[in-house]
Amino acid sequence: MSAPANAPSKAPSKAIVLSEIGQLLTLAEGPDAARGGAAQGELGLREGAAVVIRDGTISWVGPSGGIGDAVAGVDEVEVHDCRGKVVLPGLVDSHTHLVWGGDRRDELELRLGGADYEAIFASGGGILSSVRQTRALGEDELHRASLRRALRMRATGTTTFEIKSGYGLDLETELRQLRVARRLGDADGLRVRTTCLAAHALPAEDRGAEGGRERFLDRVCAEILPAVVAEGLADFCDVFCDRGAFTPEESRRVLLRARELGLGLRVHANELGSTGGALLAAELGAASADHLLYLGDDERQALLAAGTVATLLPGTSLVLGKPYADGRALIEAGVPVAVASDCNPGSCALESLALVLALACYGCRLSPPEAICAVTHNAAASLGLAGDVGRIAPGMAADLLLLATDDYRDLVYHAGSPLIAAVFQGGARVV
Ligand SMILES: [Zn+2]
Repeated sequence: MSAPANAPSKAPSKAIVLSEIGQLLTLAEGPDAARGGAAQGELGLREGAAVVIRDGTISWVGPSGGIGDAVAGVDEVEVHDCRGKVVLPGLVDSHTHLVWGGDRRDELELRLGGADYEAIFASGGGILSSVRQTRALGEDELHRASLRRALRMRATGTTTFEIKSGYGLDLETELRQLRVARRLGDADGLRVRTTCLAAHALPAEDRGAEGGRERFLDRVCAEILPAVVAEGLADFCDVFCDRGAFTPEESRRVLLRARELGLGLRVHANELGSTGGALLAAELGAASADHLLYLGDDERQALLAAGTVATLLPGTSLVLGKPYADGRALIEAGVPVAVASDCNPGSCALESLALVLALACYGCRLSPPEAICAVTHNAAASLGLAGDVGRIAPGMAADLLLLATDDYRDLVYHAGSPLIAAVFQGGARVV
């Protein structure tokens, strides 16, 4: 039977080829789970390699000489000659607060003049200042400011973003922040996972009032989290479990409610002291425990046993002049380590995860391969995205970086230099 004469012709098939890659960091050999110990240093490096992209997905990885067979029968083939340079997965920033209003540049100067972060916070600055400024913005204004930051972050290599709320601390603003975060994923082409961090700080209206803490936690558990889930706005829930924020008991209450509602769990833990957050994250089997500046052997063992990823945020240590988390001890204990920017308006507004990767080497004593796994596969695994991003293998999303150098170690050696020559997101060249 012949087709009718006016049948539409089939769309031509297309492929994008990255050829002549000097160092291809695939991270492809090893488990889907986040990797700890020696496995964290395995980059799956291939020399003289090529990658074929079809329909936004990596369809083939092999030697440059094998491209012909890989694209046989494809109608249109677009070839990028990488000229011996490095290709690696797009970076996964698994801890950001990038949706916020206003700025805290004045506070930066106070801190540089010697004022302490906790003292600024206690006097109504810090997070509470960002809450006032964020509550004052409508959704479109908040979106514009956030998109500007997110695109700058992508220009420095980040293609997947975890984004937390937590500058609303009331129902309306928490929802608005999360809607903006979703919009960055749905409308602006970024890959986004969202986290409700309503329990970031006690809001000003509940401070000093009798029963204020309980009333706020009641609102988080009974109103904010259920509304967030009903609107499908969050993948995870996070709590700032530390001195001056929420106790382990208060944090446990919020996280158990979140788990009951079907959210994954993350915890801001052990940033200001050994204050119980890491053990709580392990107890609840959280996907990630973040900061971890103060951590003992028992806490490392608990994270390892729970399969919780240790997420280090060395940019915050740099900006606040605090100690660095001991990444070496975590690696030696076998705990999978991720590294993220913590991009936020107060304690660390650094946007470049590529720069923070270098700080993880200089400050937290990771090796360059370990740090690369920390900002790709391990970060993706902590977000439940290990099957989508963070590695270069057939079936993974084509989120890739081409560097302007032939040695990946330059990301650390020449930290801060403009080494990101091209960014591909979902197979499209966006930078
Ligand atoms: Zn944070």
